[in-house]
Amino acid sequence: MWNLWETLSSEIMVVTTPTVPGYNILRVIGPVYGMTIRSRGVGGRFVAGIQGMFGGEITSYVSELENARRESLQRLRDNARNMGANAVLAADFETSDILQSSAIVFSTYGTAVVVEPIRAGQDTALRGRCSNCGTENPQEARFCTKCGTALA
Ligand SMILES: [Zn+2]
Repeated sequence: MWNLWETLSSEIMVVTTPTVPGYNILRVIGPVYGMTIRSRGVGGRFVAGIQGMFGGEITSYVSELENARRESLQRLRDNARNMGANAVLAADFETSDILQSSAIVFSTYGTAVVVEPIRAGQDTALRGRCSNCGTENPQEARFCTKCGTALA
């Protein structure tokens, strides 16, 4: 199930940094979040208490937290995709108690953006370069401004 979801949304890049090396931010769409709620009832505090008494790592509690965090991240990706984004920048996790601490809200939030890989610098620099004299012309130019050769 999770693998399927991850495959479907793998194109949404989520980073905790404000920028992505190698990418230009084309457009900022806006804040985006993903949330999920876990009860502290039978599946949470109770199970943790039992295992805690035996002194082991509270694995079921930890894995439940990880699942919840993952779920909120997944929903963040889904929301970002629905907004037309292909990346989420400055992502952060947050947990907060609600319902008099009987439940925990896991939220992941960030800034939905559209990014594009930065092309090699020469790609744009060479566009409009005259094959005859080497002059760099404006991108919209159809003929070399110096020698008049038709540009490719
Ligand atoms: Zn020329």
